[in-house]
Amino acid sequence: MFDFELTRQQGQARETAHALARDVVRPMALEADRTGRVPEAFLARMAALRGGLSAGVVPKEVGGQGEGAGELRDARGRTQTHRISIVLGEEMAWGDVPVMMNLPGPGLGGPPVRFAGTEEQNRRFFGVFAQPGLHWGAYALTEPGAGSDVAGIATTCRKDRDAWVLDGRKCFITNGARADWVVVFATVDRAQGRAGHRMFVVERGTPGFSVGKIEDKMGLRASETAELVFDACRVPSANLLGGEEHYAGKEGFLGAMRTFDVSRPMVGIFAVGIARAAWETATAFLRAELRGGAPSVRTRSLAESLAAGKARLDAARLLCWKAAWMADEGLPNAREASEAKAYAARVAMAVCRDSMLAMGAAGLEQSRFVEKWYRDLKVFDIFEGTGQIQRIVIAKRLLREPPVW
Ligand SMILES: Cc1cc2nc3c(=O)[nH]c(=O)nc-3n(C[C@H](O)[C@H](O)[C@H](O)COP(=O)(O)OP(=O)(O)OC[C@H]3O[C@@H](n4cnc5c(N)ncnc54)[C@H](O)[C@@H]3O)c2cc1C
Repeated sequence: MFDFELTRQQGQARETAHALARDVVRPMALEADRTGRVPEAFLARMAALRGGLSAGVVPKEVGGQGEGAGELRDARGRTQTHRISIVLGEEMAWGDVPVMMNLPGPGLGGPPVRFAGTEEQNRRFFGVFAQPGLHWGAYALTEPGAGSDVAGIATTCRKDRDAWVLDGRKCFITNGARADWVVVFATVDRAQGRAGHRMFVVERGTPGFSVGKIEDKMGLRASETAELVFDACRVPSANLLGGEEHYAGKEGFLGAMRTFDVSRPMVGIFAVGIARAAWETATAFLRAELRGGAPSVRTRSLAESLAAGKARLDAARLLCWKAAWMADEGLPNAREASEAKAYAARVAMAVCRDSMLAMGAAGLEQSRFVEKWYRDLKVFDIFEGTGQIQRIVIAKRLLREPPVW
């Protein structure tokens, strides 16, 4: 049984998000790219929308849009949080991803708190987002010597009476400098690999926690990417996510990975949204060139490459939708999330490149956005696990267990 139609609620969410992306987000994108900043007034306006338009799900109990909340269930009573997020995500990405990455909210820090945190920790850390003002969370796993090889993190943690002492450095952390709190991964013993990992919520202002350099990047220039430093940083024991018993098995590492099961489809759909914007721009450019006349051999050939790109984007979108649907259904979706992200990032870059090619030198003009989207898209094959790593993860699974079609 197949149903590719959006529900009324999903369709309305898409229309509203598209209007916001077109009328508000896109018009501020070039200036944000140039200055590296997004106006606070805009962020405050987004946070004040009904339920709050935020980066990451904030549970209903603490004033957020919630998971399992009535308004995010479909007509059959099933949760549709991830499906709605994916539909909204494509439209907002069509507007501008780096602007969106500035939206207040728990961001990638949300899932580990939801999945691993105790009730008290959920209330305490998500409660921050119900307070007046702009608030962010962040997720700090990557280190100078451990990106793809997450098991190799070198930031240490050791218990000292009622606290844990953290030492080490994290790099490339989205919203790391402005975050109210950061989920930090550290190890009790590097020799234990993943089993030695612990997750802490480190709050801004904790002694021994400081911000290092802010990256000056090729793309996503309006999104803050920070280095974080932990120097004998004392974190209260109450901030060890899930408490000590949580780490008796492999949970510490699984907590990190479950974040990706919900975030990778989202990253994939962002790539689709950006590439769709580039594709639409190039298609309109070719149509305008034609002015109703017969296409030349050159124009027909360029249009063919755009037509192939459309099919690839449609396929990528379906992979993202499927992975999000599985997350809503509570089905294990690690492979599907990796497939969606790896495929979407790759085809989005190709579609954006072909769109630029179709426009010739005009594709490089800033005012047409395509060169910016080209720069922004590169990172999609790097963060949240590089394309190569996703393909390794998928291949390993295929060798271990029979494929499910
Ligand atoms: C804009 C931006 C935002 C980010 N935000 C965050 C964040 O919020 N939190 C966070 O924790 N991290 C974040 N990151 C970090 C990101 O997740 C890492 O950059 C990513 O995991 C890759 O790690 P690395 O850069 O160390 O590359 P490496 O792991 O050093 O990889 C370098 C190259 O080697 C390849 N490679 C590595 N291992 C293998 C292998 N076994 N087989 C084949 N090829 C391999 C990779 O595919 C890649 O091509 C962000 C990065 C960027 C650029």
